[in-house]
Amino acid sequence: MEVRFSLDGSLGRLARWLRLLGGDAAGRPADSLRAALRRARAEERVLLTRSADLERFGGTPPRAGWLRIVADDLPAQLLQVDRRWPVLDRADPLRRCALCNRSTEELPADRARPRVPPFVARTQERYRICPACGRIYWEATHATAIARFVRELRSRRDPAARTGGNGDEEDAGPDLSSPAP
Ligand SMILES: [Zn+2]
Repeated sequence: MEVRFSLDGSLGRLARWLRLLGGDAAGRPADSLRAALRRARAEERVLLTRSADLERFGGTPPRAGWLRIVADDLPAQLLQVDRRWPVLDRADPLRRCALCNRSTEELPADRARPRVPPFVARTQERYRICPACGRIYWEATHATAIARFVRELRSRRDPAARTGGNGDEEDAGPDLSSPAP
């Protein structure tokens, strides 16, 4: 089953990028750790937070697990998540709205074209739209940039993560343990 995440507001950029990769990453900029934890518990999501204060809020982590993000920059944050849950291998860009976390839907080209920049309308055939906010996504700009970013990140995975060959299998199951400090 696909891993679903709940992030607090300190990880807004990471949340957006997990969505751009097609993942289910709930979290709004205003979400506190407490709110993100509540959602993780209620919806069986993995909690991602930068805070070390989890124990202060009710003690037990969510059943789906949690991970404290220690890195400051986005690539390192994505790689940290990827070591536990291989989000880079499962990347399926444009399946989810980067803003709303809603699944996007196909949008016929004739309906998309009046609403996108002229150059895009001339050159793109396939579009997707977010049913919640109406944002339109298309392959050329969005998917290409995302794919390039994913390739670069994969090349930066540390050697230990690669030595297993198809090592993705070995930690593919749910990991209920808390991260080491
Ligand atoms: Zn949206």
